[in-house]
Amino acid sequence: MALRVFETDPDAKPKPRDSYDYAGRFRSGMLVGRQPKALSEWRVTTDDPDVADKIAAMFGGEPAEWDTEKSDNIQVMTDTKKLDVIVDGPSALRSRMAQYGTGGPIHVCDGVQFISGHPEDEEIGDDCGCPRSLEDRKAKAKKQIGPKPDIRLVFRLADDPDLGVFMFTTGSWSLVKILDEVESALAEIGGPARVTLELAFEEYDTKAGRHVEYTWPKITVTGAAE
Ligand SMILES: [Zn+2]
Repeated sequence: MALRVFETDPDAKPKPRDSYDYAGRFRSGMLVGRQPKALSEWRVTTDDPDVADKIAAMFGGEPAEWDTEKSDNIQVMTDTKKLDVIVDGPSALRSRMAQYGTGGPIHVCDGVQFISGHPEDEEIGDDCGCPRSLEDRKAKAKKQIGPKPDIRLVFRLADDPDLGVFMFTTGSWSLVKILDEVESALAEIGGPARVTLELAFEEYDTKAGRHVEYTWPKITVTGAAE
């Protein structure tokens, strides 16, 4: 005898496992314990062993399982800092500011107003109340009381476009500084474009004499793709 609780309430029936729409994700960081760590070479996660093998062959590294509740439980720590990808057009790059709660986004804005994707439909277009200065924005995001950059690029690999569509998401404030350039370059091409993804290393000395080093995900549009 089967339970009939979903027969009377079909909307409550659990959906099949979220389908994993992407061949894999390129990642510029990982968690070490509970601390996020920026990487200097790309890390790729996937749920497909064949994709993992091909990524390892192209970019170095070995496929290995990693601890995640998501379906992309194979990772490849590549030895590649820079790769060429192809994007469909301007909509391949999504930039927004977002703050996530346990159930999903709770504040989605462009820095000034709530935008599409914000959970409260009637607030879209309203002033979101974020601070005006970049330093204040960063401070609130760090304390998890304000949104941070939520940038997503979807692309194919220039060397093997048939391997599928990959995704890269980042909250990098450094990338925000050049995002205008990237967006206008994509808009100018208006269609498929060649793009370089690079984990760029920067170092400098502060006036107080402190040496600072960091890596950030740099996106460069190099031209139209046929
Ligand atoms: Zn806001």
